[in-house]
Amino acid sequence: MVYETVIGLEVHAQLLTNTKIFCSCSAKFGQTENSQVCPICLGMPGVLPVLNKKVVEFSIKTGLALNCKIQPVMHFDRKNYFYPDLPKGYQISQFDFPLAKAGVIELRSGKKIGITRVHMEEDAGKLVHPEALENAEFSLVDLNRAGVPLMEIVSEPDMRSPAEAKEYLELLRNTLRYIEVCDGNMEEGSFRCDANVSIREYGSTVLGTKVELKNMNSFRNVELALEYEIERQKKVLSEGGRINQETRLWNVDKCITISMRSKEESHDYRYFPEPDLVPFTPAMDWIKEISMTLPELPLIREKRFVSQYNIPLNDAQTFINEKELADYFEECVKLCNQPRVVSNWILNELLAKLKEKNISIKECPIKPVNFKEMIELMDKGVISGKIAKTVFGEMFQSSSSSASAIVERMGLTQIVNTDEIGAIVDSVIAQQAEVVTSYKNGKEKALGFLVGEVMKISKGKANPKIVNELLLKKLKGI
Ligand code: ADP
Ligand code: ZN
Ligand code: MG
Repeated sequence: MVYETVIGLEVHAQLLTNTKIFCSCSAKFGQTENSQVCPICLGMPGVLPVLNKKVVEFSIKTGLALNCKIQPVMHFDRKNYFYPDLPKGYQISQFDFPLAKAGVIELRSGKKIGITRVHMEEDAGKLVHPEALENAEFSLVDLNRAGVPLMEIVSEPDMRSPAEAKEYLELLRNTLRYIEVCDGNMEEGSFRCDANVSIREYGSTVLGTKVELKNMNSFRNVELALEYEIERQKKVLSEGGRINQETRLWNVDKCITISMRSKEESHDYRYFPEPDLVPFTPAMDWIKEISMTLPELPLIREKRFVSQYNIPLNDAQTFINEKELADYFEECVKLCNQPRVVSNWILNELLAKLKEKNISIKECPIKPVNFKEMIELMDKGVISGKIAKTVFGEMFQSSSSSASAIVERMGLTQIVNTDEIGAIVDSVIAQQAEVVTSYKNGKEKALGFLVGEVMKISKGKANPKIVNELLLKKLKGI
């Protein structure tokens, strides 16, 4: 039997607001436990939630960026369940009237993945299992995260391979980062993904029984978990078994999925409308205003980079994956109008240096104007490509220096004077008699060695073209 894979993804994205969704507590990550709480997010009886306008604005912005229809009426619902990190006994979410519906994300192949819905909800708190107390029979509760605003973005079951799922996730995350509503940090949990996957006989139009996968904290793990799960399901079916509708957890150490709960054990959340928050309709003018703030979106920018700057797709992809890197590239190109040269320097030199120092492009010590000046110095023949690397390294170390100041300070100006180079060439020919003889006897490679020697003596400053010409001329004369 030939099987087809069907995947649908549910993403929880934490919104970059200063405060929580229904109170004015800070939503900042990584603060002292229970230092950002108030009666509202602690779920005390009698308190009233007040909706944070920024949450609605960011969610509308997301809906628009994902080509959704913003719904004319929306309201909140209570999703009821018990867990120690949820003091109210319910989570305020959206059920049958979400903020946005029917959107789409287009993959690089042009294939469209449907977005079922985007809705707003609050996060729960966090249980802390004290490692220091190895045999502790208790856990601690940190409610800083309770009430932090989330969006849930649900896709249609339109993906057909783990690779498509990964691309969808990357594009979605990039989009959220571009529109500045979520930092997309999977490790810190501000961008989380549950993956639903089933298989069916190829050509069939009915969906197979799905399994929901949780606990993947990187794109790579989502891909690996899906690959594992698809093979597992194929094995079960080919042995005549049936797939259980269940939730399975990805075990990152063993690289397998493990059953967590079956459908029978799943909750009945008894959703009902949240009586403390009224249904509302966002004004058309406001939606329009928000739509005006949408920047150029990642995939469109990627395509533009390829066509406008004539750089390889792979390079464009690397740039747009980090908005600030793409911005930096464009800023440099604007100044010196040599996209390919700039692109190569960034990809071959700059990224390695940033990685070495473990800093982001935002903290890059080389300002675009200085970058441009270095390229100009190369163009004018003041420095060679090799020396430029030294200058580049220096600019990176001493953030404020301009390229020309460094060239002057370190005495790196290229030697173009033929007498000066000629003298070095003569001395190399005199010192390397053996190599010269083997060159004369037809060993072409010997020339490269001689060029290298001249460059070495000139400390890399001799113009390589003149060195070559002079060497050839003088060797002919011997
Ligand atoms: P649930 O009620 O279990 O949450 P939903 O119908 O809301 O299920 O779907 C949740 C996610 O699972 C969506 O992203 C959807 O695209 C996906 N999905 C639904 N059915 C399947 C299936 N048979 N195979 C793969 N994914 C599916
Ligand atoms: Zn609060
Ligand atoms: Mg669902």
